Amino acid sequence: MTICKTKNELFDFLKTYRNSGKLIGFVPTMGALHQGHISLIEKSINDNDCTVVSIFVNPEQFNNKSDFDKYPNMLEADIEKLKKNGCDAVFMPSMKEVYPEKDNRVFDLYNLDKYMEGVFRPGHFEGVVKVVSILLEIVLPNNTYFGEKDFQQLSIIKFAVKKYFPNLKTNITACPILREPDGLAMSSRNLRLNTEQRKAGAEIYKAMNAVKKIECKTLKRLKSFVINKINESDYLNVEYFEVVNPETLQPISELKKGEKYRACVAVFAGEVRLIDNIEIYD
Ligand code: AMP
Repeated sequence: MTICKTKNELFDFLKTYRNSGKLIGFVPTMGALHQGHISLIEKSINDNDCTVVSIFVNPEQFNNKSDFDKYPNMLEADIEKLKKNGCDAVFMPSMKEVYPEKDNRVFDLYNLDKYMEGVFRPGHFEGVVKVVSILLEIVLPNNTYFGEKDFQQLSIIKFAVKKYFPNLKTNITACPILREPDGLAMSSRNLRLNTEQRKAGAEIYKAMNAVKKIECKTLKRLKSFVINKINESDYLNVEYFEVVNPETLQPISELKKGEKYRACVAVFAGEVRLIDNIEIYD
């Protein structure tokens, strides 16, 4: 596996693939890799001739400085995992390499960022769109892989790439959420949970899974069931729980027969903020 710290190193590495028309797959990450990330990498390896993974903790997408400062950093272990799993190149740029100057671009995300994460993490999605567009322009992949774990992020990236960067011509592939055996969605932030918080974390998926099949519930009853169930734990505190249209990401006002929705949640376990989502249907 080739380790690239600069754009030039990565250009050189990718040249032979590009010149011979080989397919390049790309998985952007912030490191502290777990099996969820690996599932995206496996999909990319399966679909492409060459897979590039980036590890870059992007300050622009953190609205909370302490969350940024405490974000797990385990580069050596990450590199070993990437080697073991057949990744071809890892791109680990410095801040200067990604942002040689301040990125002052502003993106209208057409209401996709008006609810859920957009409300509680102001500026987050602008930061995500900035960094993803910069990384895509460097890697120029044929296929790029994102997890449904960050459902709103995935929708916003799909939209922004089509709307603002049509020349990049990369396919965005959505990959399913990988979970721990007890149901907690895998996340780099899980490393920051203490034993009690980690155990309680399983209640998030359990509560959402219990309403997966709507079965005559009203929206109000469904929402209060999930919120109360999670908040019953001494270690968990729901920040929001929304049921949204999976295309527009707008919260719905009532449940209709035959429709599919996304139920999305953010929960604090102490200082650690966990997100999860699930498709629900009647
Ligand atoms: P992150 O390092 O958290 O920015 O995540 C990098 C990519 O991995 C994003 O596209 C995430 O949605 C995806 N990802 C993170 N956790 C999971 C998971 N549990 N299952 C599937 N994909 C995930």
